[in-house]
Order: sequence, then structure tokens, then C-alpha cells
Amino acid sequence: MSEETMNCLFCRIIAKQIPADILYENEKVLAFKDINPQAPVHILIIPKKHISRISDLEESDKDIISELIFIAKKLAEEKGIAESGYRLVLNNNKDAGQAVFHIHLHLLGGRKLSWPPG
Ligand code: 5GP
Ligand code: ZN
Repeated sequence: MSEETMNCLFCRIIAKQIPADILYENEKVLAFKDINPQAPVHILIIPKKHISRISDLEESDKDIISELIFIAKKLAEEKGIAESGYRLVLNNNKDAGQAVFHIHLHLLGGRKLSWPPG
């Protein structure tokens, strides 16, 4: 592991050095339950490639982002919230409240979510 990824919580979850409740995994993506769920369904979908934030995306990363969304769509179906509805969130930097600097797509659902977000 590089120093950057050794210090990254989500890279350590990918490396199975820190346990997580994993719901889906393939060679490029991992999905696991959020440790502090904000809704009955709260899943984080992350690329295995360490990218700190959406602002750091490069053109060659476009496919991985669409894969995150497609896996979120499939997990929402599995969890039975596709009909009732759900929200996909990507927090970028301070004003959005980004706390973990490894891109993660939040899948939130199972209750009515308010808008606008706080
Ligand atoms: P952010 O605010 O960066 O968009 O979201 C970070 C998310 O990661 C939060 O919802 C938080 O609960 C979740 N999280 C932080 N540490 C851990 C952890 O060790 N394990 C899991 N499963 N989720 C975590
Ligand atoms: Zn990372």
C-alpha cells in the first residue's frame, strides 16, 4: 500500500484491514453499510482506486463514476426502495461536509427525505 492509501480509511476497508458490512464487491468497486446510518438504507459505494474527491476526477475516471451509480441502482432494487425512492449523494469538500477523502456515493432511502438538504 502507498502512504496515501495506508492513511485512508476507505482504502483500508478495501484492503480488509478494517471490517465493514460489505454488500457488493467487484474488481473496481466496493459497497458497504454506512457505520452511522442516516436512513433505514444507507450504503456507501466506492471505487477501489483512491480518488480523494470529485474535484480530483480525471477524464479517465468517468467510467468508474457511472459504475458507482449503476451499482447504487441495483442495490436500491435489492433493498426494495426503488419504487418508494432514494437519494444518491456525493459530498465534495468542506461546505458539503465531506469527512472521508476517498470518493464515496451515498445511497439513502427507506424514509421520506427532506429537500432542500440541510
Ligand atoms: P462524508 O461526510 O464524507 O460524505 O461521509 C462519510 C461517511 O462515512 C459518513 O456517513 C460516515 O458515517 C461514514 N463512515 C465513517 N467512518 C466509517 C467507517 O469506519 N466505516 C463505515 N462503514 N462507514 C464510515
Ligand atoms: Zn482511499
